[in-house]
Amino acid sequence: MKKCVLCGVAADELGRADACEYVCEACGTYTAARYWITTVVESGALTIEQRIKLCGVVRFETDRDGGLKGEIRNDSYEAIIARHQPPTRLGQVHRFILRANKLTRDFGAPAVFAPSSRLARELYFDDRNPNDLPRFVDAVCGAGFAEEHKPNGKSFSVVLTIKGLRLADRLSAPGTGAGEKIRLLMVTGMGLQRWRRRAAATPR
Ligand SMILES: [Zn+2]
Repeated sequence: MKKCVLCGVAADELGRADACEYVCEACGTYTAARYWITTVVESGALTIEQRIKLCGVVRFETDRDGGLKGEIRNDSYEAIIARHQPPTRLGQVHRFILRANKLTRDFGAPAVFAPSSRLARELYFDDRNPNDLPRFVDAVCGAGFAEEHKPNGKSFSVVLTIKGLRLADRLSAPGTGAGEKIRLLMVTGMGLQRWRRRAAATPR
């Protein structure tokens, strides 16, 4: 077991003479040229922002197509980083539910997420403030998609509700249309309002 060159967690590595394919639990699946790893990553030339955006593109294209399109090389990595797009607010909810569903073994079992800094990267995929994460998870739970589970060390977990599992099924189904997204927006918005009312009524 080797380490992902983008985020440093343990990852499967399939080596070739000039490049390596990585399968990382956090970032996704991508192929990187050995020359790029030595001259750009290990030399420190890749900035943290570039690294986070690269993780974002790999995650997005892995979820959509099964892996990063093209190989990360010295002459391609800037163009790959330029494909990065920060997710919309709704996109963050979708991503979180899909990810939680993937991490859930069976009904009622907790979805255990990696330490919060990595989860933030998985969700936000940009340099937005990762300290927003507890609020975001609270809001998803407040909307009824999941229930909070006790944190275990640095990682934390949620348990998807029936509503969360249903949404994950619909999002995973091919041909998820715009109508579904609008419906989700309404559901999320309603849930958020309920959550805000509850939060306002709770003395601190
Ligand atoms: Zn990684």
